[in-house]
Amino acid sequence: MPESYADPSPRRQRSRQQVLNAIRAENGGITRSELSRVTGLSRSAIAEGVQDLLAERLVTEHRVESGLGRGRPSAVLVPAAARGEVAGIDFGHNHVSVAVAHSSGRVLAEHRRTIDVDHQATGALDAAAALLARCLADADLAASDLVSVAAGIPAPLDMKTGLVRSPTILSTWVDLDPARELSTRLGRPIQVGNDADMGAHGELRFGAARGCRDFVYVKASHGIGAGLVLNGDTYRGTLGIAGEIGHTQLPDADNWCRCGNRGCLEAVVSISEIKRQLTHIRLQPEADVSDPSLMAISSDPVAARVITGAGRTLGRVLADLCNALNPEAIVLGGEIGTAGVPLVLGVRESIDRYAQPAAAQDVNVRCAQLGLRSELMGAVATAIRHQAIPV
Ligand SMILES: [Zn+2]
Repeated sequence: MPESYADPSPRRQRSRQQVLNAIRAENGGITRSELSRVTGLSRSAIAEGVQDLLAERLVTEHRVESGLGRGRPSAVLVPAAARGEVAGIDFGHNHVSVAVAHSSGRVLAEHRRTIDVDHQATGALDAAAALLARCLADADLAASDLVSVAAGIPAPLDMKTGLVRSPTILSTWVDLDPARELSTRLGRPIQVGNDADMGAHGELRFGAARGCRDFVYVKASHGIGAGLVLNGDTYRGTLGIAGEIGHTQLPDADNWCRCGNRGCLEAVVSISEIKRQLTHIRLQPEADVSDPSLMAISSDPVAARVITGAGRTLGRVLADLCNALNPEAIVLGGEIGTAGVPLVLGVRESIDRYAQPAAAQDVNVRCAQLGLRSELMGAVATAIRHQAIPV
């Protein structure tokens, strides 16, 4: 390994990751000048990134003759053949899911357990370790076969310290270092990120956001958080708490929120609030409110009205985000995202009404393709992207 990679600057590490992502996103190879155009990085940053990736054997270089038989052959970079298995872990507010997958993204085993993650940090971390052991046993693998593991946590994470920050959200996790806690339990190094960011990456790699460079993924479940992908990369903000849209104040609301404020978006629009409203409605017999997915419920015409109303409220906040970021797509995920068309209609209506016309016209609103697995598959995608990074 070259001297320069032994202690890379954060800037060099970031460009290296951007270059790697761009090479992995391209089928059939990419040249250095195309990399510069796709990533927006300077030629020297591309040269450094490629040098590091070649030294780590994460990419290889091939010469391709120009089609006309003249001119210099161009060098294209392609990802090195996949090297092993990875694991992804998704902590929701009341579940833990774990998947073991091949580096190509093919899932080999997957398990989920219901647990009060918010109030039982230690129990949830132990449950993740137990589920991973089950997945490994099912796939006939040992922990040492895993080249990379990543986990999503449903709380703001301080990107500088790796600690859970918020004193009022996920209170039993405050000051915990989830990466260290999990590494100790799993015996492997681990990448930890915010759950909405993981959801965004799941949809980017395997779902509704494939091919998008600027989009917002909304995890709308017990809380509401947004994963922002800008210029093809996750945007976390200076501390790592960008996208906490659930605590945007709504003008006419005064419901108490778990953050201690009143009138927050997620105190008005949450899966528990929608289900509470649905219990007052005589639903069609096939609609089951206890089902975590709203897919079956949303075909009931009265339930659809409740969901569209929630979509309008959510869309009011997303309209402002469209003005600020001008995304090409908004992907609605989490349990509320499973509602489908009635939800999209409500969000669309508010964006058309409150966002700048050009920004509103440009943005495509759609539901997550991976349903309740966006965050889990995002953890798998993150593990694949981060494999073989020295820790
Ligand atoms: Zn709040």
